[in-house]
Amino acid sequence: MIVHSSIADFKAFRCDLKTKIGFVPTMGALHEGHLSLIRKSKSENEKTCCSIFVNPIQFNNPEDFAKYPKVLDRDLELLQQEGCDVVFVPSAQEMYPIAPKTRFDFGSLETVMEGAFRPGHFNGVAIVVSKLFHIVRPNMAYFGRKDLQQTLVIKQLVSDLQFPLEIEVCDTWRESDGLAMSSRNARLTTEQRTQAVILYQQLLEAKSLLIKGMSIPFICDAMLNRINAQIGVKAEYFQIVEANSLLPFKNKPQGEVAICVAAYFGDVRLIDNLVFPFEGSTN
Ligand code: AMP
Repeated sequence: MIVHSSIADFKAFRCDLKTKIGFVPTMGALHEGHLSLIRKSKSENEKTCCSIFVNPIQFNNPEDFAKYPKVLDRDLELLQQEGCDVVFVPSAQEMYPIAPKTRFDFGSLETVMEGAFRPGHFNGVAIVVSKLFHIVRPNMAYFGRKDLQQTLVIKQLVSDLQFPLEIEVCDTWRESDGLAMSSRNARLTTEQRTQAVILYQQLLEAKSLLIKGMSIPFICDAMLNRINAQIGVKAEYFQIVEANSLLPFKNKPQGEVAICVAAYFGDVRLIDNLVFPFEGSTN
């Protein structure tokens, strides 16, 4: 496995590659969710590239950035075991020798949920992903549905700027109790880890209430109350929206539905979602 930390070295290496390349951008502290993307890429491409870069400009909370888990040696071992071909591990100085001034505006895609609660987040994501796409020049790029809003922003970016690649959105990997795998889970205390399963439980409960014909405002209120009833837990949002636009349903829900949640367990912020086709309630 080749590891590059300089953009110039990576580009020189890339110039000689004529094969189909799959790309998995990450912020490291890899878990099975990340590795599932690597496996998917390996099954569909001749070469697979993974990047590990904790992107400072997408963090709106400096403490979250400072405390983001960093375990590079272990990550490289895992990638080697998976048979990843090349890893790009730039420093912040390498990626941003001067602070970028470009500003993206994704309209309604970034005024809701993550966009509303994390100002500037998707601008930082769009800048780093654009830079990585230019450096890596992949044929395919793999992203997790766990970050649903991010996948929509990136698809919009690729379409608007005509990046010559295909985006594949992959299923969310979960722990055995249902908690979505996340690098931030490592920061949970034992008690918070036990509490955190409530996110998936309430997503499932909300789906079942929706199918029974309960109203969306009623469901979201009830789920928020249940999450917030736990000591040290504070939900930021619980929303049921149209999965492709993330906008509320004008009338009755129909088509692809997304149920999305974000909550703090102490100072650790977790997100999760369920996306499913909805054919109407049973009532
Ligand atoms: P991150 O390192 O958190 O930036 O994530 C890198 C990529 O892995 C993103 O496309 C995420 O959506 C994806 N990812 C994170 N967690 C999971 C998961 N539990 N299952 C599948 N993909 C995931």
